[in-house]
Amino acid sequence: MANEFESARTKIVATATQKLREFSLDFQELDVSRVTVNGREAEFEQVEATPDLSPIPEVSQPMKLVVEPHPSTRPKKGREFVVKVRYSGDPQPITDPDESIEGWIRACFPLDPPQTCDGAFVVGEPMGSQSWFPSNNYPTDKATFDTLIRVPQGKTALGVGELAALTQHGDGTATWHWTEDDPTGTYLTTATVGDFIYTVESMVENSTGRTLPVYNAIDATANADQLAAINASLARAPDQINFFSDNYGAYPFDSTGAVADRATGVGYALEVQTKPHYSGSFTFGTPSINISTQAHELAHQWFGNSATLETWADIWFNEGWANWSDWYWSFLEDGGDDPAAIWDDLYANTPDEDWETAPAILDGDPANLFHFFPTYQRGAMTLQGYKEIVGDAKFFELARTLLDRFAYGNVSTEEFIATAMEVSGFAGADLALLEDYFQQWLYGETKPTIVPDDF
Ligand SMILES: [Zn+2]
Repeated sequence: MANEFESARTKIVATATQKLREFSLDFQELDVSRVTVNGREAEFEQVEATPDLSPIPEVSQPMKLVVEPHPSTRPKKGREFVVKVRYSGDPQPITDPDESIEGWIRACFPLDPPQTCDGAFVVGEPMGSQSWFPSNNYPTDKATFDTLIRVPQGKTALGVGELAALTQHGDGTATWHWTEDDPTGTYLTTATVGDFIYTVESMVENSTGRTLPVYNAIDATANADQLAAINASLARAPDQINFFSDNYGAYPFDSTGAVADRATGVGYALEVQTKPHYSGSFTFGTPSINISTQAHELAHQWFGNSATLETWADIWFNEGWANWSDWYWSFLEDGGDDPAAIWDDLYANTPDEDWETAPAILDGDPANLFHFFPTYQRGAMTLQGYKEIVGDAKFFELARTLLDRFAYGNVSTEEFIATAMEVSGFAGADLALLEDYFQQWLYGETKPTIVPDDF
């Protein structure tokens, strides 16, 4: 399958917070043919963003599409405006500062040529979405999305949210139209295309009685054993969603599902909104869904996708909650270790140098964004420690309070700490110690000395 956008269009409906003589969108180097603002042709230029993201030559430098509207259609403060961008070309993945790839990734196997490619595995954290559409690619600028993907008939194409229409055209192509009416971070969108076993089923959310569509897509090359294993994991997803719904409050979106693709060179999963994506192994792209990873990605629908980090330096918030949720689900539902025991083990046995990277600082280096210990493990330990300090009832009150206040929006580390201190009900010396606890655990560049037993 050719990796080519014959004719792509992005339409953005936005509200200006100031008068705009010029503005820029985040967009990599596809061939832009036309930009209009409020229906009138605009000037545009594609330039490299500044400063340089990384000194490593393989790392993609972000690009900007700078738009200068015609003076008669300049966006006015407080007014809605419409931008349309037409483009074409051969979308490329983005290489991040940690040298992993994201964005528009051709779904191919084996790892080295000659390869068979059946489409694209499209995941966008943190900046990959600008490899295939222009946007203000920042997690605080959420939007609702309509994703229309025209592909050869027989291919499956997946966007965020629910399937609004599947239109067969007379020329051997079909358009998949997905609509997501809940606010969505640009990094949580997708347009994955490929040869899939695609099914639409449904599940009932126990806490609300709602019926949710379940859209699953499994790589068509999965063999019988792989298919059986993937289906065994997918069969438990409704129970996992109900587990988190019981603990955190109603599932934030209107559908769920999964994409299990064969995409070599990826080797990670991503919590794409409503449709977590699983790439299988890095080398072989073996289609698979680990049950514990599935718990992690589903928990992200609450923490990460609904209540979203404010800046990328707050990534521990997304990953700490998802990692802790996986610990908790695995312990209660899958024979895993007690999170308290995991905490004890990590606190006792993690080497000193691993504590030098603070979760909410990450040495100021984007290459550390997905470092396992500071972002995932220490993030989850911070939450588990708080649970031991305040007790289960207040811990889950914190989870629900965060979602009450920040669902469909963003939350900073400072807002998290303020909410956790408030929910604790502590006062005086206890409250001061709790504040010091968070400072040490989230900002400290040495092993924290304040532990739950100190309270
Ligand atoms: Zn995660």
